Amino acid sequence: MIPYSHQCIDEDDIEAVVEVLRTDFLTQGPKIEAFEKALADYCSAKYCVAFNSATTALYASCFALGLGKNDSFITTPISFVSTANAGVYCGAGPIFCDIEKNTGNMDVDLVEDLIEKDTRLIIGVDYGGNPLKWDKLKSIAEKYGLKLIDDASHALGAEYKGKRIGSCEFCDITVFSFHPVKPITTAEGGAALTNDETLYKKLLMFRNHGITKSAKDFISEPDGDWYYEMQFLSFNGRISDMQAALGLSQLKKLNSFTEKRREIVKLYKDRFENKGFFDFTEETKGAKSGYHLLPVLLKDGFVEKKQEIFKNLRSKGVGVQVHYIPIYRQPFYRRLVSNVHCPNAEEFYRRELSLPVYPCMERDDLEFVFEAVEGVFEQLLSP
Ligand SMILES: *Cc1c(COP(=O)(O)O)cnc(C)c1O
Repeated sequence: MIPYSHQCIDEDDIEAVVEVLRTDFLTQGPKIEAFEKALADYCSAKYCVAFNSATTALYASCFALGLGKNDSFITTPISFVSTANAGVYCGAGPIFCDIEKNTGNMDVDLVEDLIEKDTRLIIGVDYGGNPLKWDKLKSIAEKYGLKLIDDASHALGAEYKGKRIGSCEFCDITVFSFHPVKPITTAEGGAALTNDETLYKKLLMFRNHGITKSAKDFISEPDGDWYYEMQFLSFNGRISDMQAALGLSQLKKLNSFTEKRREIVKLYKDRFENKGFFDFTEETKGAKSGYHLLPVLLKDGFVEKKQEIFKNLRSKGVGVQVHYIPIYRQPFYRRLVSNVHCPNAEEFYRRELSLPVYPCMERDDLEFVFEAVEGVFEQLLSP
C-alpha cells in the first residue's frame, strides 16, 4: 500500500538515535535543548519547548495563554480532533468557524461575527501545510484582544509573507507535530514556539508537572538546595533524548523534504489538472505551502461515488484518506455544541480525498498511483 504520507528515515537518522542509546541520557539530556534551539533558529523564533506530542503542546499553549472554564475559543472544523480538544481540556467552549472552499482553511472573514463576550483565543490551522491568511487574522485578534495559536502540525517548512511558519510573527504560539506522517518525525512528538518569555516559562513548567526549579520564580521560601515547586496541576509531557536526536537529524533534511513534496504535487497537477476528475486546492496568496497533504476535491458526477472511489483506490494499493470529518460531527462534539453552521466545511468533507505525497516517494510509486487513479476514475466514466 502506498500511504497518503509516510516518514522518510535514512541511515544517519538511525545512527543519531543509536548514538543516544550509548550515552547516559535517554531523556532530559542535551539532545532536547539542541533540537529546541535548532527548531527555534530554523523558524526565527526566540523560544521553543519540545513535547511528547503536538496534542500536549496545544493543550500547554491554551493553558499558558490563560484559556479557562468560562471562556470560548474559535477554531476550524476541518482539522484533526486534537486542535479543538486542546481548548476543551481547559474547560473552554469551542466555536467552529466555516472554511474557504478553495483552500480548506478557516475563512478569516467570518471570524469577527463569531466573537462573543467570553471569547479569549483563536486556534488556526494551516490545512495541508498551506498557511491561512494570518495577516488578517492577526489584525482581528489585535482589535478584540484575543490570543492566537497556530496549529501548524502540517506546516513546518511552509512560509507566509516571507516568514517561515513558526516565526510567531502572526501569532502568540506556533505548534508543530512530529508524528511520522508530518513534515519531519520524532516518532511521537511536538513543539511549541513563542517569542514571549513568560509564555515560554509556562510551557516549560506545563511539560514537567507544573514544577519549576528556578529560584527566582518560587512562590514560597526554599528550605534547601533540593527545593523545587509545583505551582499548578499538569503532567509529564516530556519528549526523550532519542526522539530529539531523530528530530535534529530530520530537521537537516526539511528543506529538501519540502521541495520534494512540492515537486510531486506539481507532477500530480500536470497529470490531472485537465482530466475532469477533481480539483486541486489553491495555495494561499503570499504563502508557500509545505504540502503535508495533497487534498483534491471530487467534481460533480464523482462526488456521489466517493465511497466507491475510496474503496477501489484502497484495493488497488493506493492509501487515500479523507481529511477531515468536520470535528463538530463527532458524537462528543455534538453533545458539546449546537447550532453549528458550516456549509463550506460540509461541502469540503463531501468532496475531499487526500492522495499520497511524501518526500521519499519514488518515481515508480508515483507512476503506480497515477495509473491506479486514472483507472478508477475512467472505469466510473465508462457506461
Ligand atoms: C497530527 C495533528 C495533531 C496532533 O499531533 P500529535 O503529535 O499526533 O499529537 C494536531 N493537529 C493537527 C492539525 C494534526 O494534523
